[in-house]
Amino acid sequence: MQDAPSYLRDGRAALNAAKAARAAFIALPDAADYTQVVVAFDRIRAPTDPARGWAGLLQHTHPDAALRDAARTLEQEIAAFETELSLDRTVYDRLSRLDPGLAPTREEGRLVERALREFRRSGVDKDDATRARITALADELVVLGQTFETNVISDTRSITIPEGARGLAGLPEDYVAAHAPDEHGAVTVTTDPSDYIAFMTYAERGDLREALWRQNATRGVPKNIELLKQILERRAELAGLVGYANYAELSLDEKMVGGAAEARAFVERIAELARPRAMAEIAELVALKRETVGSADVIRDFERFFWVERAKAERFGFDSQAVRPYLAYASVRDGVLATSQVVFGLEFRRDDAAERWHPSVECFDVYDRGTKVARFWLDMHARPNKYKHAAMFPLCSGIAGERLAEAALVCNFPEPKGDDPGLLLHQQLTTFFHEFGHLMHHLLGGRTRFLAYSGIATEMDFVEVPSQLYEEWAWNTGVLQRFARHHVTGEPIPAELVQQIREAEEYGKALHVVVQMFYAGLALEYHTRDPRSLDLCATMIEQKQKFTPFPYEQGTHFYASFGHLVGYAAAYYTYMWSLVIAKDLFGAFGDDLGASAIAARYRRHVLEPGGSKDARELVKDFLGRDYAYAAWQRWLES
Ligand SMILES: [Zn+2]
Repeated sequence: MQDAPSYLRDGRAALNAAKAARAAFIALPDAADYTQVVVAFDRIRAPTDPARGWAGLLQHTHPDAALRDAARTLEQEIAAFETELSLDRTVYDRLSRLDPGLAPTREEGRLVERALREFRRSGVDKDDATRARITALADELVVLGQTFETNVISDTRSITIPEGARGLAGLPEDYVAAHAPDEHGAVTVTTDPSDYIAFMTYAERGDLREALWRQNATRGVPKNIELLKQILERRAELAGLVGYANYAELSLDEKMVGGAAEARAFVERIAELARPRAMAEIAELVALKRETVGSADVIRDFERFFWVERAKAERFGFDSQAVRPYLAYASVRDGVLATSQVVFGLEFRRDDAAERWHPSVECFDVYDRGTKVARFWLDMHARPNKYKHAAMFPLCSGIAGERLAEAALVCNFPEPKGDDPGLLLHQQLTTFFHEFGHLMHHLLGGRTRFLAYSGIATEMDFVEVPSQLYEEWAWNTGVLQRFARHHVTGEPIPAELVQQIREAEEYGKALHVVVQMFYAGLALEYHTRDPRSLDLCATMIEQKQKFTPFPYEQGTHFYASFGHLVGYAAAYYTYMWSLVIAKDLFGAFGDDLGASAIAARYRRHVLEPGGSKDARELVKDFLGRDYAYAAWQRWLES
């Protein structure tokens, strides 16, 4: 792959191409027809869209530190250009001169209308001094957000267990093997998800779980506390300059939800619906803990996953480790790919010649009835300095007849090595389907006429619908038995085991819902209250007590590593909002999760249009009615 200087040079060439496209747009004669103006406006960002996509990916995945830095620099420069563009009055004026009555199609009229609203929301009609201040704030926010995220990623903490492997009692064998004692006989466990989640779930020693949990809940401290204050202050100022009461109002304006008050009402409604069940779940966990350890009246954060796992074993005879031998990485990857080819009517062909940023990365071309339509990359295993979570990174937004959509999946799944086949947890399989749902949305939605509508360019609170819907495939016996085979015996996963996973894995779901509403409520409050008098920690404690049964643990600062505050701002509710819709859409599929008329309808009406229509309309086109809460409620209560 390229070195940092040549990478940066290419990125800046893309930036210059976008600037040239902007100049060409402004220079269009008044006599230019409507479509010509719309296309020229839409394509201003065409060169920077892939440059920004790749910068987002490479700063989180490239093994070379100089290249990661170059990617961050390029992202800042492109973001600065986009801010400048959003405040460019000559561009705004040229677009405003279009006569709305002349729009040849509804799609074009909608594009112009939305762009003009977006310009006004950005502050294009403010005076020069205000626009200069908006620009400065926006540029600063990019850097502050990047720094906040980098602080979280680079702040891996750990605990050292002097008694060695004895401290790992309860953990699976391969985990113990992967944590060999040092020369003093001590074992180290880190807050990286690959270490952390299993430790919180299985480690028998509560004191060690508490110690590791505390390390995790203080990541980003102290640097990010100050940074978060600055981010919230700048966002609030920005919102005020463009006429909004607060940043929550500004950022939720064009979402499905409609505004901050509506988002808050949604969070309250969901919490209300989940509360009785969550209370019953916590009572069950407390009772189990009491039976086991003698006395207990509360479950604390570092105990939650451990007792949930115990309760599953008790109630369902379920051991999440029992599924792993059926989920060797290579067969899971082949299975998810094969399933997706059938469901979405596509063909994937691996391209081993493609230049990759790391040797473990794989590249696939996507074919639709023999024609190449998109490309994707899989970067699936953990390594130092790599993004720690799972995500789909859009790399290029496709345009019909002009260029192909492209995206990458980044995960941290166990890697096959020598005799170790890299066994996944079922949860990780669910994550794989989730991210692949995003991928299909971006790639299949990448053949729109306009860049503005390409791929996942839909309302942000609709984006988690295709991903959460596709998670359902991870629970289906027919789907799983096609690829989940025991890595030694070759026997397909037993139907009873799949049934057990379904029952067990969702155990504690109402607690999950109320914790999600805590995060959603917190994100809304942080972006609503006046940041000058905002107490970050006190607000977190207040929201935690309001929504969850878990007591606050003194001295911890979860918000300092709450990365979603950067990318999602006030919109964390998005996940649950999307889940309500996903559950309703899933009802239409019935038991048929292979190639079906319904799958084809879903592809055509929900994925392929990208953002060409309001999400509410896409749902209506597919369901034949507005979406409803009933399916979600049935799921919660089942
Ligand atoms: Zn997602």
